[in-house]
Amino acid sequence: MITLHALTKVFPGGVRALDDIHLTIADGEFFALLGPSGCGKTTLLRTIAGLETPTGGTVRINGKDVTRLPPGDRDVAMVFQDYAIFPHMDVTTNIAYPLRIRKVPRAERTTRAAGVAARLSLTELLHRRPAELSGGQQQRVALARAIACHPTAFLFDEPLSNLDARLRLEARTFLKRLQRELAVTTVFVTHDQAEALALADRIAVMSEGRMIQVATPAEIFHRPATTFVASFIGSTPMNLLPARATTTALHVAGATLPLPEGVTAGDHLTYGVRPEYMTLSATEGPGAFPGVITVLENLGTHTLVTLEAPGTLIQAVVPEGEEPSLGTPAWATPRRALLYRDGTLHTTP
Ligand code: ATP
Repeated sequence: MITLHALTKVFPGGVRALDDIHLTIADGEFFALLGPSGCGKTTLLRTIAGLETPTGGTVRINGKDVTRLPPGDRDVAMVFQDYAIFPHMDVTTNIAYPLRIRKVPRAERTTRAAGVAARLSLTELLHRRPAELSGGQQQRVALARAIACHPTAFLFDEPLSNLDARLRLEARTFLKRLQRELAVTTVFVTHDQAEALALADRIAVMSEGRMIQVATPAEIFHRPATTFVASFIGSTPMNLLPARATTTALHVAGATLPLPEGVTAGDHLTYGVRPEYMTLSATEGPGAFPGVITVLENLGTHTLVTLEAPGTLIQAVVPEGEEPSLGTPAWATPRRALLYRDGTLHTTP
């Protein structure tokens, strides 16, 4: 279990990379830190690892305050984006390296390295050097090295980002299966929302050193707490439409909708609908957004349709073959919507 209390990091020069972070990561949990570049993900991971000293607050691992302990005394294993494996050592020596530092006898080191290598399908490669390995193989060596010392927690800093798209997907599935088998608490930094959704038990979405939302992937996807989270999550961006309330109705992009509870005229409102939850129709219906089809993008099994609506663009994802023709009028009806007031989730109308 990893517990962070009031964790703050201000770098010399005044950048507040971490701003009062409170978080408990459960034993065995796969936890993703997600957010745009510069939001503080790496700083947070490095602070847990002991590579960065916080300005304030505490880090506890399994109840023990490790805030002032050096990285080597924290019993965590970090895997970096560039793997940081040693070019002059073969695979066995690389995997066994942390065991050598811990003064594990040579015979046991070799046995443990071979065991972990077998698990990660590296047995054939034990005598090769990193230069003789593919990117995916190097990444598995870095993982094997982290696993070999049986750490309390794995800390991953974008470990898949140097792999090409296909290998990245394979490695993702592999990593998830491995983490389930080992049941080791894992903190995983990524700026890739799809990766976070696919891998994590829970995700923290960060912005400017703060955690904006900490929740399960389903909750983050279906009930993003703010418009920032809503716009960050999803492979096609959420429609975030300006909405205006009168005393009797909600007006959104040419449609008139029932007035949700707790909303009054003058509120700053945003109506959010994922493109996947828009149904397109060639005929008008109640509460439908009118528009004209201006762009069709092929997504393989689906088509991303862009509709030019009064004062805004609306996107819908429809099954391949069901897309309307370019230039024709269409109506988009939300099946699932979110209403934000002042950028914060207010209700799901
Ligand atoms: P990325 O996805 O680009 O790696 P990140 O979310 O991991 O970004 P951090 O690397 O944690 O972000 O950086 C958070 C903020 O702290 C940024 O504004 C960054 O410029 C700043 N920062 C990071 N390291 C230092 C440092 N050693 N000295 C000063 N400022 C730093």
